Amino acid sequence: MNAAEKRVAVLGGGIGGLASAHYLLNAGFTPVVFEATDRLGGLATWFDHRGVHLDRWYHVILDTDADLCGLLAELGIGDRLVWRETGMGFRLGGKLYGFNSPLDLLRFRALSLADRIRTGIGAAYITKIKKNGLDLDAVYACDWLRRVFGRRVFARIWEPLLRAKFGDRIDTVPAYWVWNTLNREKHGGQEVKGYLRGGYEGFADTLRDAIVARGGEVRLLSPVAALEANGAVVRADVGGDNETFAAAISTLPMPRLRAISRGALANELPLADLHYQGCMNAVVVSRRRLERFYWTIVVDPAFPFQGIVETTHVIPSEWIGDRHLIYCLNYCEPGSEPYERSDELVERQALDGLAALYPGFRAADVEDVYVFRAPHVEPVWTVGYLHERPAPRIGTSRVYLSTTAQAYPRVTAWNTSIGLARDTVAALARDLSS
Ligand SMILES: Cc1cc2nc3c(=O)[nH]c(=O)nc-3n(C[C@H](O)[C@H](O)[C@H](O)COP(=O)(O)OP(=O)(O)OC[C@H]3O[C@@H](n4cnc5c(N)ncnc54)[C@H](O)[C@@H]3O)c2cc1C
Repeated sequence: MNAAEKRVAVLGGGIGGLASAHYLLNAGFTPVVFEATDRLGGLATWFDHRGVHLDRWYHVILDTDADLCGLLAELGIGDRLVWRETGMGFRLGGKLYGFNSPLDLLRFRALSLADRIRTGIGAAYITKIKKNGLDLDAVYACDWLRRVFGRRVFARIWEPLLRAKFGDRIDTVPAYWVWNTLNREKHGGQEVKGYLRGGYEGFADTLRDAIVARGGEVRLLSPVAALEANGAVVRADVGGDNETFAAAISTLPMPRLRAISRGALANELPLADLHYQGCMNAVVVSRRRLERFYWTIVVDPAFPFQGIVETTHVIPSEWIGDRHLIYCLNYCEPGSEPYERSDELVERQALDGLAALYPGFRAADVEDVYVFRAPHVEPVWTVGYLHERPAPRIGTSRVYLSTTAQAYPRVTAWNTSIGLARDTVAALARDLSS
């Protein structure tokens, strides 16, 4: 292959794009990463708080994230990881419950004793007995969970949990996603979560430096405005300049790719009807620890958010100036009421809501509150999605996908994006060498 035949455009400078560029280099290609914004990281990007860079959205690593940990080791930064034991809480009917062990379940008085026993049996069935969940792709999660746990347990526990991820679209989600997620997160033992010294920003910067050192390019403030595929040539319009490539990998959410696709490529794009769940969260930067759990689901009218994540249970607070990070979150769609709330209202609701739930919480300990919104966080999976999940290649074009729309049944996460990037590059390398 000559130099032109090795040039591959990568759309997006989140983890999917950076990992794609890394694997392209491993396979002998020359990637050019185009990132629309002024910084890398995509959904895992950062903001500045008094000179310290903090995560816009809560992010941690699981000990089951093999692809992610493998890439960290390959980059020589695996030793930057710290691990902490974490737990989950549930605030319901004005009370806080632990939600981590069989003993917690026995103490969960928001359910009757019979329902607690049924919940224990149901959880054991899902995580210990049902070893394969493929058949659940054709089953609605709500129906399945009602069958396994009963209607009352579904309404008290599972419905709020599903709403905290899929908002008002929980009725379409397949049971396979739930089965897979429960078996990924808990795997029966103590929950452990990890974080990287230097954060995801440091990881993205390390990847960028390694890409550039090996001859790839990473361009910020470079939105791809149009993408077209003609035979063995892919054309990208970036800032009015038309550049040609041997192939392209898109890591963009499908609606974003649809908006820039031209000609035959636009007609070949899959998933015209795919919806995405967005997210809105308030990051409360505090001088004091709030809660004993990393993640707490909240069902309480005094707190107009679905939950609280305190990432400084995993991130050593001394790394960020002895601060504590409290994320008040709502998974919701653009256009919905929670998504469109004004920043001022969200900020007030976060502070008033935390004060209502936690008598020890004092607004005086809060340094600032930041509000962020993202429109395309999690595709809303639908029953039978295994048959909808797109292949790496778009039709017969030389445009490839490595996007969250292919994650199912896995959760959308850095680990998943890295695995997808590796598989997509392998498919691209096979096609271009044949
Ligand atoms: C609230 C929240 C919590 C999360 N928690 C975790 C967690 O704990 N652990 C975990 O592993 N994952 C977590 N995730 C998921 C994780 O952030 C994402 O799955 C992952 O970052 C997706 O990466 P990506 O590169 O595929 O896509 P994205 O991060 O969406 O990257 C796409 C990139 O494309 C760029 N772009 C868009 N249009 C164009 C264009 N026309 N031209 C060029 N560039 C363009 C965007 O600016 C963006 O940088 C969380 C996400 C959210 C929102």
